[in-house]
Amino acid sequence: MTSPSPPSSPDRLSHPAPPAHCRHLVLVFGDQLDPEEAAFDEFDPASDVVWMAEVDQEATHVWSTKQRIAVFLAAMRHFREELRLRGLHVCYTELTPDSPPGDKLSAVLARDLERLRPDKVIFGRPGEWRVLEGCRRLLEKMAVPYEIREERHFFTTPDDFAQHAQGRKSLRLEYWYRELRTRTGILMEADGQPSGGAWNFDQENRKSFGKHGPEVSGKGPTIEPDAVTWEVLDLVRQRFAQHPGQLDHFYWPVSRATARVVLDQFIRDRLPNFGTWQDAMWTGEPWLYHSWISVGLNLKLLNPREVCAAAEEAYRAGQAPLPAVEGFIRQILGWREYVRGVYWHFMPEYLQRNTLKADLPLPGFYWTGETDYACLRATIGQTLEYGYAHHIQRLMVTGLYALLLGVDPKAVHEWYLAVYVDAVEWVELPNVLGMSQYADGGVMGSKPYAATGKYIQRMSNYCESCPKKPDQKTGKDACPFTTLYWDFLLRHEESLRRNPRMSLQVRNLDRLGAPTREEIRATAAALKQQA
Ligand code: FAD
Ligand code: SF4
Repeated sequence: MTSPSPPSSPDRLSHPAPPAHCRHLVLVFGDQLDPEEAAFDEFDPASDVVWMAEVDQEATHVWSTKQRIAVFLAAMRHFREELRLRGLHVCYTELTPDSPPGDKLSAVLARDLERLRPDKVIFGRPGEWRVLEGCRRLLEKMAVPYEIREERHFFTTPDDFAQHAQGRKSLRLEYWYRELRTRTGILMEADGQPSGGAWNFDQENRKSFGKHGPEVSGKGPTIEPDAVTWEVLDLVRQRFAQHPGQLDHFYWPVSRATARVVLDQFIRDRLPNFGTWQDAMWTGEPWLYHSWISVGLNLKLLNPREVCAAAEEAYRAGQAPLPAVEGFIRQILGWREYVRGVYWHFMPEYLQRNTLKADLPLPGFYWTGETDYACLRATIGQTLEYGYAHHIQRLMVTGLYALLLGVDPKAVHEWYLAVYVDAVEWVELPNVLGMSQYADGGVMGSKPYAATGKYIQRMSNYCESCPKKPDQKTGKDACPFTTLYWDFLLRHEESLRRNPRMSLQVRNLDRLGAPTREEIRATAAALKQQA
């Protein structure tokens, strides 16, 4: 798949004139691209202005990949054009190859507030605590009245989650998910029971491909870049040349219309197989049966209600089996809402958590993909090429390796936030720091996702082309995951023994004699040295 040549240069729309006096200034951040959002309620084009800004800081505060930067900028520019077409005045700061480096969101906003002098600023809850607090601080300092509105792009609000959490000793996805199924009626029957008589069909899902591999092949999203996107790709190539990743293939949806195309194709072509192959991995097949809609959802080009409705409709029409549809809906109605709840419930303290006291730096190959370990090479390679890896690659390859090695969870978090096109902190942080690194001490999951290389061998064909052997924990052919898994259990033996869900795993340590323990520790120490 190679990128086609660029279409002719974009036909700029005429820009509606600004009002003489700005009543409301509506701030729109790069992940809030929906004109139906609450921030636009009562918008009056005769007196209100939309504010958007491309700023250097958002691409550099974590060292973002070219794909991630391009997705956000292209989507923002498409949204600006859409608003102008609707006759709205948009005050928009555009990055150029020559604009000075280091611009901050708050500085650009302060400059525009001085100029526009709005009576009031309105915005939806941003996707990052940092941005929310930065805006609040600035507006209070400048004594500008403001209103923050809850976004409609979620089924729940942070308050709903706080109520759910109240009085519970521990939080679990399953309770939250069942509550939301009942509340929304999604995949529920008239008698109040879940469709198919069960909440979960995991036993029928999550298979591996076996010897022959997947039947689908190759292509991911196929949205051709238009002139607006081409301009952004040129800008990113010039301005962010030193940033990681590539732009040779850029087919992400960056408008509402194209995001809907990607969703419809998924429902028609891949949803029926989604559950079965949800956790499987295969060399040279980054896309498989996944939906690739996280960009559309997180930038608010798609609403999760329409996504769940489309999947449920396919089930009711007999076009997709219940296990696949339930498995898919659980990711969106369950996990997506749950991680957002966790984020807003525990921030800003959550970011500082490091239960396992992990402190190693992230191995350098996370930024290049240059490693002999086949699973890591494949996952990091596709991440840098497309800005995409599916859930199990993120959790059980790159996440697992960092967990077992003992990498500082903040460094892991910054990598994930930088490299994926769908990365926004509210969704990325709990998944990384909580689910994959267990740094939150059990909020996201009741035990660490720790496994040997044999898990990767079972769920993929990566090990077939790897110089290492997944069943060996020591010696020159030892799989680093397997060595580090045992080293991880040894390092955290005392605390893991107290976790009933880990007891089976930890009990296996009792079978290791002192010489084997020493050998594991020495092999692991060498791996840590290389990192
Ligand atoms: P599919 O596999 O087709 O799933 C459908 C949708 O379900 C996704 O688009 C997503 O919206 C939702 N979903 C699935 N799993 C989760 C989850 N655990 N949390 C929240 N939503 C979920 N997702 C992001 O959107 N942004 C991130 O920055 C992000 N970082 C992650 C980091 C780690 C370590 C892990 C383990 C997971 C992360 N996820 C993240 C969740 C998940 O990996 C991605 O949503 C998914 O891979 C996106 O690809 P897809 O759209 O093809 O998803
Ligand atoms: Fe990954 Fe180990 Fe398998 Fe190699 S042997 S691909 S390092 S799990």
